[in-house]
Amino acid sequence: MTTESAPTTDRSAIVRLDHVGRVFTMGEVKVEVLRDFSLDIYEGEFLAIVGPSGSGKSTILNLVGGLDQPTSGEVLFRGEDLTSASNRRLTAYRRDHVGFVFQFYNLAPNLTARENVLTATEIARDPADVDEVLEMVGLTERADHFPAQLSGGEQQRVAIARAVAKNPDLLLCDEPTGALDYTTGIKALRLLVDVNRRLGATIVLITHNSAIAETADRVVHLRSGQISDLVINPHPIAPEEVTW
Ligand code: ADP
Ligand code: MG
Repeated sequence: MTTESAPTTDRSAIVRLDHVGRVFTMGEVKVEVLRDFSLDIYEGEFLAIVGPSGSGKSTILNLVGGLDQPTSGEVLFRGEDLTSASNRRLTAYRRDHVGFVFQFYNLAPNLTARENVLTATEIARDPADVDEVLEMVGLTERADHFPAQLSGGEQQRVAIARAVAKNPDLLLCDEPTGALDYTTGIKALRLLVDVNRRLGATIVLITHNSAIAETADRVVHLRSGQISDLVINPHPIAPEEVTW
């Protein structure tokens, strides 16, 4: 791995965080999680964000995904300022452009695997074929099972299928392997890498596991809401090569 020496100017940003501040106010207490935080996420890249618990990783992902808005600065999607966007516009942004994968899957328990995926394609602008996506994640045989009838790894594959089936420009993953054992985690990571390489989706992956980050094109190291290091992997390793 080499440390990035100069800002890359020849790639366009799908999302730009421009001097972003995020302060949470709880009663009398103000928690400043991000201050003057700037980062470009490039079209088509696989970006990992690593850092200890509480360093602001999820806060950043939520801002990128339009689940949250900054207290200062701007978040731009392909040049459009999301900071001043209405709730209605943000909802459309999430619906049309963003897929989320969370650590604890967030599946609807009363819907089958297939139905969970359908909830995403029914609202998407240009959805993928549900059966093709289920096949891609290896769940064709389990499509009619409910989440409670699936293992953790299978549930995460449903969650990935649901996010991918929207054909999102941005796939945002918050500790997607955090609840999985090693082998299952590697399989989930493989799926994400395939989605990036084959479908061209930009991926932002949060992990506190720096071994996993070696599969990404670039790695942002976060410490107390600041970028402590920004590393480019000229040769990202395959998920199957990850060891920890
Ligand atoms: P990470 O994902 O790296 O563990 P987070 O982005 O979730 O970190 O949180 C960073 C800090 O911001 C933590 O100190 C957390 O307690 C605080 N924080 C996050 N969300 C909220 C919120 N909605 N209200 C108050 N504090 C929050
Ligand atoms: Mg988090």
